[in-house]
Amino acid sequence: EEWKERGAAVSTRQEVDANGRPVSKVVKKGVKDFNFGRTLGEGSYSTVLAATDRQTLREYAIKVLDKRHIIKEKKVKYVNIEKDTLNRLTDHPGIVRLYYTFQDERSLYFVLDLASGGELLGTLKKMGTFDEECTRFYGAQILDSIAYMHSRGIIHRDLKPENVLLDDKMHTKITDFGTAKILGLNGGQDGSRPAGDPMDGAETDRAVSFVGTAEYVSPELLTDKNACKASDLWAFGCIIYQLLAGRPPFKAANEYLTFQKIVALDYTFPDGFPEVARDLIERLLVLDPAKRLPIDHIKNHQFFDGIIWGKGLWKQKAPRLR
Ligand code: ATP
Repeated sequence: EEWKERGAAVSTRQEVDANGRPVSKVVKKGVKDFNFGRTLGEGSYSTVLAATDRQTLREYAIKVLDKRHIIKEKKVKYVNIEKDTLNRLTDHPGIVRLYYTFQDERSLYFVLDLASGGELLGTLKKMGTFDEECTRFYGAQILDSIAYMHSRGIIHRDLKPENVLLDDKMHTKITDFGTAKILGLNGGQDGSRPAGDPMDGAETDRAVSFVGTAEYVSPELLTDKNACKASDLWAFGCIIYQLLAGRPPFKAANEYLTFQKIVALDYTFPDGFPEVARDLIERLLVLDPAKRLPIDHIKNHQFFDGIIWGKGLWKQKAPRLR
């Protein structure tokens, strides 16, 4: 089948040999190595369960995908994209990490970081809005994670508050890479599309039928059916706006009307919206992706004054929600 297991799919186990000498064995984890617990959520093709490694007692989230359903709905390609991108993004605290993959007759299993705080959207809905300090902290963690995935040649393409999970320390973890794009050899350098990109077919496909939530889609995806790294920064601008305003900037009765607003840059700020945040958002919600503020400039924008970028950001205590 098309499903191949590799990358992080093995672990080592300390054992003793016949002579009592310690040896470390490479052992493949499987379903029987975990105790499955509560259901964390359901997707269209998957169920995510809390699970504990029987040996280490470490907790994970395991995403269980139904093979027949995936094949029937022609989603094999997207499942592989999710696995391949996650296997490239194993070294950052702000991205849900994939530890093991395995399968049995019926299902595929992704063993992931457990994000016990649920979706950022849920927290935002509970709070209504975030204050500037919270927005700065969550925004900085999201941006640092985007910078990392872009440096690894990956565009997420579906960033939104549902796809930002929170762990037990209320730190963010980006998830849902099923519609991500893996850039070609020059992918780490710029956001252009390499000629002969093997994903070309999928591109058009996705632009038409794979837009999960209309509100965060960049104008270039609607007009050129083409996403680049800056498309993630458009979505980032939408997220910062939403955290402060309680609703995304482009929202209408249906997808078509939302798209119309996006390509017309038809949005306004609510009264009392913080001026510095407004300035940042106005530099991100720019129709021409080449003119959007690049990540380094975003990090240096006044809105993020006081943020210490890099590893320290992930050791910081999350601010009290307000
Ligand atoms: P769809 O496939 O329809 O787009 P989805 O991407 O949300 O939906 P899943 O990735 O299977 O589907 O996630 C299902 C639910 O499980 C999500 O709502 C999410 O909140 C929760 N979830 C996913 N991953 C984790 C995780 N690592 N830790 C905790 N909860 C998770």
